[in-house]
Amino acid sequence: MLYNEPLYRPPSEANSAIVQVTLGCSWNQCLFCDMYHEKRFRLVPLQEVENDLRTLSEYMPEARKLFLADGDAFVLSYDKLRPILELAHSYFPALHRISAYALPRDIASKSPAELQALRQLGLSLLYVGVETGSDYLLGAIRKSETRTSIIEGINKAHAAGIDTSVMIISGLGGKEYSEEHAKESASLLNLIQPKYLSTLTLFLPRGLADYQQVFGGNFTPLDTYGVLQELRLFIGALELEGTIFRSNHVSNSLPLEGILNRDCAKLLATIDRMSSEAERLRRFTPEYGY
Ligand code: SF4
Repeated sequence: MLYNEPLYRPPSEANSAIVQVTLGCSWNQCLFCDMYHEKRFRLVPLQEVENDLRTLSEYMPEARKLFLADGDAFVLSYDKLRPILELAHSYFPALHRISAYALPRDIASKSPAELQALRQLGLSLLYVGVETGSDYLLGAIRKSETRTSIIEGINKAHAAGIDTSVMIISGLGGKEYSEEHAKESASLLNLIQPKYLSTLTLFLPRGLADYQQVFGGNFTPLDTYGVLQELRLFIGALELEGTIFRSNHVSNSLPLEGILNRDCAKLLATIDRMSSEAERLRRFTPEYGY
């Protein structure tokens, strides 16, 4: 089987069977993302998906987890997803979790009955790049969503029994919007109570000038100390009831993990220790790392 590359998957899907049911991203406009710039979005025909499932099952017959790629596989309608999930179970009898990246609007476009049917077919986890809870910043980074659409979409998935794993990008709004980003993101998270939360740190594959131009000019990137202070404000404002938190992405200077809010004090103490070091180093380095 040949994957149509580049192929991306969440860190937690490292040992999963992965099948591409779409190629690229149907939105493909987020300012910080160039993952699928070289890929023209298209749906993979069902026959090709089945061929790949069959081939995968020969290599991983005992697979318990299946990840549907690419960027927003949940853009597929219920009628297109259902036969894929049914085929997946026929090729992987031990399957107990099917997951995919999703945009909230693609969750919201499905009816409660459709979402429940997909859940019964094993689709139990959606990865959602929320990025920020600030409406202003969602517009500035050209995300396809608003704060309201994110809350509606994710809560609709939860109501159907589908868990979500939510990503927030540290430093997304730079120095100017750091406080708004932290507070608005925390307040959004408090409203949706996801099962998993992870943070990444902003990386600009097309460079700072490109980001600043589209963002609107008022963007000064955060250095390590600034990112840690933003993370401190964000975590301190969370009111979560058992969310599993990870910040182990390669882009982060400080890997963290814990259960929120249970481990909040411990996480803040770790951030404070790292902040002291980052503040000390700040005196010896240029103001910003770009
Ligand atoms: S929706 Fe996701 S994959 Fe698509 S452009 Fe935005 S961040 Fe990238």
